[in-house]
Amino acid sequence: MARYTPMIEQYLSIKEQAADALLFFRLGDFYEMFFEDAVTAAKELEITLTGRDGGVGERIPMCGVPYHSAESYIHRLIDKGYKVAICEQVEDPSQAKGIVRREIVRIVTPGTIMDGKAVQDKGNNYIASLVQTGEEIGLALCDVSTGEFYVVERDLQTIWDELQQFQPTEMVVPSGDEHKTIVQTVIERVGCLVTAEESNSHAETKATERLLQHFNLLSLESVGLAEVKTAVMAAGMLLSYLEKTQKRNLHHLKKPLLLTRETHLIIDSFSRRNLELTETIREKSRQGSLLWLLDKTVTAMGGRLLKKWVERPLAIRADIERRLNAVEELVNELLLREDLRNLLGEVYDLERLVGRVAYGSANGRDLLAIASSLSVLPEIRRRLLHCDSPLLQDVGGMIVELNEIVDLINSAIVDEPPVGIRDGGLIRDGYDAHLDKLKQASREGKQWIARLEQQERERTGIKSLKVGFNKVFGYYLEVTKSNVHLVPSYFERKQTLANGERYITPELKEKEALILEAEDKMIDLEQQLFLEVRDQVAAQLARIQQSAEAVAHVDALQSLATVAVERRYTKPVINDSDRILIEEGRHPVVEAVLKRESFVSNNTLLDCGSNQIALITGPNMAGKSTYMRQVALIVVMAQMGSFVPAKKAEIGIVDRVFTRIGASDDLTGGQSTFMVEMVELANILHHATRNSLIILDEIGRGTSTFDGISIAKSVIEYLHQSPSVGAKTLFATHYHELTELAGRLPGVTNYSTHVQEQGDSIVFLRKIIPQPADRSYGIQVAKLAGLPDKVLHRAKEILHVLESMPNAGLETAVASSAAASDDGETSQLSLNFDAKPHPVVAELQSINLLNMTPIEALTTLHRLQQMI
Ligand code: ADP
Repeated sequence: MARYTPMIEQYLSIKEQAADALLFFRLGDFYEMFFEDAVTAAKELEITLTGRDGGVGERIPMCGVPYHSAESYIHRLIDKGYKVAICEQVEDPSQAKGIVRREIVRIVTPGTIMDGKAVQDKGNNYIASLVQTGEEIGLALCDVSTGEFYVVERDLQTIWDELQQFQPTEMVVPSGDEHKTIVQTVIERVGCLVTAEESNSHAETKATERLLQHFNLLSLESVGLAEVKTAVMAAGMLLSYLEKTQKRNLHHLKKPLLLTRETHLIIDSFSRRNLELTETIREKSRQGSLLWLLDKTVTAMGGRLLKKWVERPLAIRADIERRLNAVEELVNELLLREDLRNLLGEVYDLERLVGRVAYGSANGRDLLAIASSLSVLPEIRRRLLHCDSPLLQDVGGMIVELNEIVDLINSAIVDEPPVGIRDGGLIRDGYDAHLDKLKQASREGKQWIARLEQQERERTGIKSLKVGFNKVFGYYLEVTKSNVHLVPSYFERKQTLANGERYITPELKEKEALILEAEDKMIDLEQQLFLEVRDQVAAQLARIQQSAEAVAHVDALQSLATVAVERRYTKPVINDSDRILIEEGRHPVVEAVLKRESFVSNNTLLDCGSNQIALITGPNMAGKSTYMRQVALIVVMAQMGSFVPAKKAEIGIVDRVFTRIGASDDLTGGQSTFMVEMVELANILHHATRNSLIILDEIGRGTSTFDGISIAKSVIEYLHQSPSVGAKTLFATHYHELTELAGRLPGVTNYSTHVQEQGDSIVFLRKIIPQPADRSYGIQVAKLAGLPDKVLHRAKEILHVLESMPNAGLETAVASSAAASDDGETSQLSLNFDAKPHPVVAELQSINLLNMTPIEALTTLHRLQQMI
């Protein structure tokens, strides 16, 4: 029976170890793919599919990419959702007996990629794992490029919220029947690459052991993880997956940090989106979001940290005040702020650089970037230690001076090192005596060869004689055809060209051997020296990481201060009261886009007593949503430690922010938007506390008017009474009917957006005033929007009838006004009202539409029509 060639046999056995990845099989200067992998890769990468005889007759599909440009191909495959297993030759082919030994050295996956598109400067690239035990779900998240590691243990809903915030690009879940449901849900909802990993009954013990060992811990208690067994299992599973795929030291991973909710302002995923905290709703762009506005960070690390602050504001007064005081000092100290910004500008992405050091992928340029970053740290530290703010001082104290590492790198690595660590020319002269000797030997040899050209020209009288070098023949002497007869006998002919000959001499070859040997040794020695330096940097990993964290903090704080100064924000007062008081508040983003002068500021007072629910009426486009979001954003900003766009703000700490907007505005689209709206409303009503801030925009709009009004009313009554007594609520609606609630419920106050009528038209003054809107101005808004005059005219007719018959329904009004407009005489209608009512009108007035089904309404309408 035919058998595969030994190399294909080797390929197949290695492929078994990474069945779900495309195997990049190193063959000389290429990575080759075979069989199915070749077909897939050729299609995805648009490269030629060839074939190879594998020993069994049929040709095996094959394609390949050069190893030096493999990275871009790998990134393309990862972007398309594949995993790529890199299989290298792990012994020197010249030493190998039989087939060269090969091994998978790393499996690159979307969640573990260290560079490329997925790894944005100011963003994170997370891989997550998820485990369920009973009701509890454990989630672990890791960014391999920065070393961040988080765990959470919560109910399903909260976990989804976290997943939407972290947006992992890859997930690991347990296999096995008992996990089937959760795995299925994950796959359906998360939309990223999901890998099922085997788990067993000892998973918990194993995970604990793995964490203790990896992070060198005595107990899980020391890192606050003793009580979260499911989260520990998730972390253990993630770590094991990372070890399995990365196959290297992962010591740069930081100890898992348990994300708690009590210490932070909770903003669920819908509200986060709706408030456009990190991206806009429609374009999904960073530009136009709160983060975009607040981000004046100079370093990538600061940018990433600020994003976390925006997504997870604080809820503990002391923590918030600490940040606010630091920002205040930076606001007041212009010089300090500018100096820090300049210094920070010289700091590279230390977190990711040390990640590469730990990964063993850092090159000479990376080390120089580390050295130049570390060299400015002492100055940053000195500045911070002189500050008054305790936070700035603490952050300064976190910075570790690593001068020895800076000196080491600067003395070892040349100013402009090559990309590869075996490209030569990496190590500085004077760093290592042995290397200097080799360099000297090679230099001298080359000088000797350079002199040789001159000598041989003189000796032979051939003026055009040249010394050259190529990879195949090494050094040679080249003589043109016309001079060949002058060549002396000690020249040995090596190669014939079209118009000349190439020769060598024994002396030349001897020198060449010396040079090449020296250069070979140099390359080996340079690499060895480089790795020693890199290892010494790796030994300082934890300290560099700590300094990097401090830098991120300074940067995020100075960013908030810079924005505060540029936009003239004020420092909010934080307290533990139930009150939110904002004087002359502005919407930070709308203001920035509109330019400050044209933005109209507004006051806000919410508390748990007579100002619990602000019911805001007013026409569309009047500024209701902007106003409500402005209140939420000011709270978010204040609790993340930022100054706020207001003349004065006093914020009683909020535990959760909820925002919901009516179904017809729903951002998700889809058919059951009303259902979604109701589900989310239910969630609010279950979870809001007296410390929550709720924003409801046109709730109930997704259903019929009467349903809508009824739902809206009962929601307000519920919020006003129990059990979530006191949740501060802003409720915008265009249902006038709701304004009567203010008379009945002491905690409800009517507000409206001030609108000025100018003849047939209206002007929005954008001022929130403490009284209900008198009209809805829908037709005027429609006019502003450019609806055709005919449509506006007709709408006015219908409105007129509706207003003159408060008890009539829409159908009646349409019918009546139709009768009027048919003969072109609107006035006739009013005549009818003045005199004895027409029997049709009389009947219409007596009908109770609320008790009618649509069919009954239609038949009645039909009957009435017959009477005309
Ligand atoms: P509504 O929710 O009442 O329909 P919006 O809040 O969406 O109205 O506001 C409509 C537009 O009015 C916004 O896009 C914004 O450009 C402008 N606007 C809103 N509030 C203000 C304000 N206070 N000052 C200036 N312009 C505003």
